[in-house]
Amino acid sequence: MSRRSQLLIAFLIAVVVGPAAAQQPAFTRADTLRGSVTPERAWWDVVFYDLHVKFDPADSTVRGWNAITYRVTGPSRALQIDLQTPLEIDSVVQGGKRLAHRRDGNAFFIATTGRQPRGATRTLTIYYHGKPRVAEKPPWDGGVIWARDPDGAAWISTACQGLGASVWWPVKDTQADEPDSQRVALTVPDSLQAISNGRLRGVVRRSDGWSTWEWFVTSLINTYVVAPYIGRYGQWTETYEGERGHLTLDFRPLVQHVDGARRQWQQVRPMLKCFEHWFGPYPWYADGFRLIEAPHLGMEHQSAVAYGNGYRNGYKGNDLSGTGWGLTWDFIIVHESAHEWWGNSITTADIADMWVHEAFAMYAEGLFV
Ligand SMILES: [Zn+2]
Repeated sequence: MSRRSQLLIAFLIAVVVGPAAAQQPAFTRADTLRGSVTPERAWWDVVFYDLHVKFDPADSTVRGWNAITYRVTGPSRALQIDLQTPLEIDSVVQGGKRLAHRRDGNAFFIATTGRQPRGATRTLTIYYHGKPRVAEKPPWDGGVIWARDPDGAAWISTACQGLGASVWWPVKDTQADEPDSQRVALTVPDSLQAISNGRLRGVVRRSDGWSTWEWFVTSLINTYVVAPYIGRYGQWTETYEGERGHLTLDFRPLVQHVDGARRQWQQVRPMLKCFEHWFGPYPWYADGFRLIEAPHLGMEHQSAVAYGNGYRNGYKGNDLSGTGWGLTWDFIIVHESAHEWWGNSITTADIADMWVHEAFAMYAEGLFV
């Protein structure tokens, strides 16, 4: 290699690679703990999350607990649970004993108690509280959204694809492990409703001005598609005669938007007809299909699809294709619902493979058109 070639290569590296490398965000230990199946995650398999969270719009705080039931699949050691700063764990309890735990950024390493033989099922409960990270540009970043509806009432939700569910609740925050079922019990001021995934089991209204809404998901669920929707909602239900029988359709626009929703959300039926034809039955007949207005553009929250497309066709009223076809259908209804098959029913174990979710959802759009 000539000296001149060496200089040329050095120049190219400086000009081309240098700036690209400088733009890469620094890869941290927290990224490794969040993104890999660490030894502290590998020895146990989540069976059930029993999540209870109180949302207080007065001071933008959450407080609650998650009882995690898991099956031991290998030799036990410390157990990793994720909960992002600035949230704090108050205590971890197993078998009536408080467990020692050590924080390492957004991960906690917990010393379990009692024998943990392979095949056994155990439960530990994590109590936590704090003022969770606020989403600045949901759904593109992540966090809790403390919004207001058109009449100024509190309207709260979360978006955490990529960032992870541990931005608002303590969880094994990897797509490699999903609970077989999950409870989501949301406590909110009793002037508001609290909607989530799956079906409503009951509402407990207390004399202190707070209500608890208990939702139950009977199926496997990704942690990032668990979501609260807290606000003042209208509602109607329908039944869709689908490939696996009667499917409950539960529609929840804001109270101010029921008329627009009744018109625009008729597109749910042709969407289901198309996707059941090409991809097989909707995956969650037991939990039903819900479309619910959210204070952000949209997200594939399982059996509770977030909708924020303004009751217009296209992508916020725009035709991304430039062909005219883009304005013949509602992008968010079609795209986010496609993720029920591609993303929620079939989930990549590693977040690095998210292209599978997005590419097949985009393919589904083409089939729908
Ligand atoms: Zn998508």
